[in-house]
Amino acid sequence: MTKDGALKKYFGYESFYPLQAEIIDHLLAGKHALVLMPTGGGKSVCFQIPALLMDGTAIVISPLIALMKDQVDGLAANGIPAAFLNSAQNDEESAKIIGRCLAGGIKLLYISPERLASASTTVFLQKLRISLFAVDEAHCISSWGHDFRPDYLKLHVLREKFPAVPLIALTATADRVIRRDILRQLDIPEEHQFIASFDRPNLSLAVYSGRKRIDQILRFLSKRKNQQGIIYCLSRKTTENVAMRLQDRGYQAAYYHAGMDNAGRSKIQEGFTRDKIQIICATIAFGLGIDKSNIRWIVHYSLPKNIESYYQEIGRAGRDGAPADTVLFYSYADVKTHHDMLKDLPQDRRELLAAKLERMKRYAEADICRRRILLSYFNEQPSGDCGNCDVCKNPPKKFNGTIIAQKALSAVARTSEKINMTTLIQILRGSLNAFIRENSYDQIKTFGAGRDIKYSEWAEYIFQLLNSGFVDIAYDEGYALKLNGLSLKILKSEMDVFLTQPAELEKKFETIAALPKKQAGNDGLFERLRALRRTLADENNVPAYVVFSDRTLLEMADSRPQDAIEMLGVSGVGEHKMKQYGKQFLEEIRHYTTHQS
Ligand code: ADP
Ligand code: ZN
Repeated sequence: MTKDGALKKYFGYESFYPLQAEIIDHLLAGKHALVLMPTGGGKSVCFQIPALLMDGTAIVISPLIALMKDQVDGLAANGIPAAFLNSAQNDEESAKIIGRCLAGGIKLLYISPERLASASTTVFLQKLRISLFAVDEAHCISSWGHDFRPDYLKLHVLREKFPAVPLIALTATADRVIRRDILRQLDIPEEHQFIASFDRPNLSLAVYSGRKRIDQILRFLSKRKNQQGIIYCLSRKTTENVAMRLQDRGYQAAYYHAGMDNAGRSKIQEGFTRDKIQIICATIAFGLGIDKSNIRWIVHYSLPKNIESYYQEIGRAGRDGAPADTVLFYSYADVKTHHDMLKDLPQDRRELLAAKLERMKRYAEADICRRRILLSYFNEQPSGDCGNCDVCKNPPKKFNGTIIAQKALSAVARTSEKINMTTLIQILRGSLNAFIRENSYDQIKTFGAGRDIKYSEWAEYIFQLLNSGFVDIAYDEGYALKLNGLSLKILKSEMDVFLTQPAELEKKFETIAALPKKQAGNDGLFERLRALRRTLADENNVPAYVVFSDRTLLEMADSRPQDAIEMLGVSGVGEHKMKQYGKQFLEEIRHYTTHQS
């Protein structure tokens, strides 16, 4: 069988994603490789197809024990014999699997790194015919990375004991230092690196002002009742609060954070993978360890700490290649929270992290194509504007807001830079209260100078001034607003300020909250197929996406295959799945089409 034949027969796909074919040929030629691909880039196929085409068993080292069963189920659903060995199994279970491997019945064997390090495993591997080694999440080998696993340091033994067996290391974490560590420790020649583009065109990107986030989220969700997603929050408390607010509105939402016990966390994770929970409100603790291709949206409730984390987190959506939406809420208070977290670090580390935070902040404040910024951050040259971010879809319409800015800044100056945003708006709007009177703020010249602008609009404008760096905020002085060099220029009319009207921002939000016409959820047939998938998944005790991905269902709903041949033409329908599920899905489609016309 050829590699193209295997792709079609086992996975039901027509053509390879970028670099997959090259990597497969490289491994088949007996060479080692380091593969860097974004989440959803299709890393697994890179070693699964060679494993199918070569004699013997491929050994896949993966730190994600919780995922092994789903991965093996996923392979089984495509008719590929696979198994896993980890420390959670008892002796009898593992003896059975070892026996099947030695008898030549298993093409892929997943092993946890600690299990690999045990003496009995070494003895077993020496008896086994091994086709290749695949080291998944290879960045865990580097002590520079955030997921460092000491057991990964022992992997170099594989290269010493099995020098002739090709080894492929795979990761989605890009950094040069980590890459160098992987190459060195696994003794992979530098020229054997495959680095894919990190662009994920199916992910929409949007950044919104972090005011009234819950309201905005509710509106976003109201159009996505059948779509699963994750809301990333900075603190445990926020995850709990947001989940509660959503539950109150009838959503199946749960929270997930590092303060919960293992059993509680696995239960939530399982519920999400099996489509029983629609929304997870999580700290970053939820992430590594979810292998779910039909996550349709990601919301960042707060600004992430750097672009790497942000990109990794949004990357968990839309792994099946179907459209997925990402929304980031940005507020300057988040920047303060991050700065507080850095406070006690040694100076050089603090400076590095602060610089990364600054890049993240600039991304959130930008008014050029956001994908351009992301790709250039990862040292790629984008070919043009993406057309799938909020800036591209709705270029910010600005008006000359110099006078508005001057009113606000002048009030800040006249109150000796002691007031926070709330007091500033009260002064501008001429609201009298005890605090204003006590401080004689009602006596200053700008008192009431901005009555014509609503409270919420003032808040929005001041927000924009802050985000553009036209005024500073002293987090350690009760959020007092402070003038800077630019503020003075504006006050002296040496420079103009351009602002966006809140109504424009509102319109902008509507465009992203809306679903593209053909997207998941709009089509009656798609919903029928989804329901059928759910039933079949429950019967077989596997996650729904293991039966068929959202993308495959969308294509089925769209092309409405009438017979087995047409069904096999749908991307994601391989021979095994055709045999197992084809008939039921064909019937559902036929039923739907006849009752419609
Ligand atoms: P990664 O591990 O890089 O995040 P996966 O290996 O999980 O990515 O693949 C992501 C999704 O893309 C999976 O649903 C997979 O079946 C699918 N996929 C992989 N290669 C192809 C391809 N050549 N054509 C279509 N879909 C593919
Ligand atoms: Zn864009």
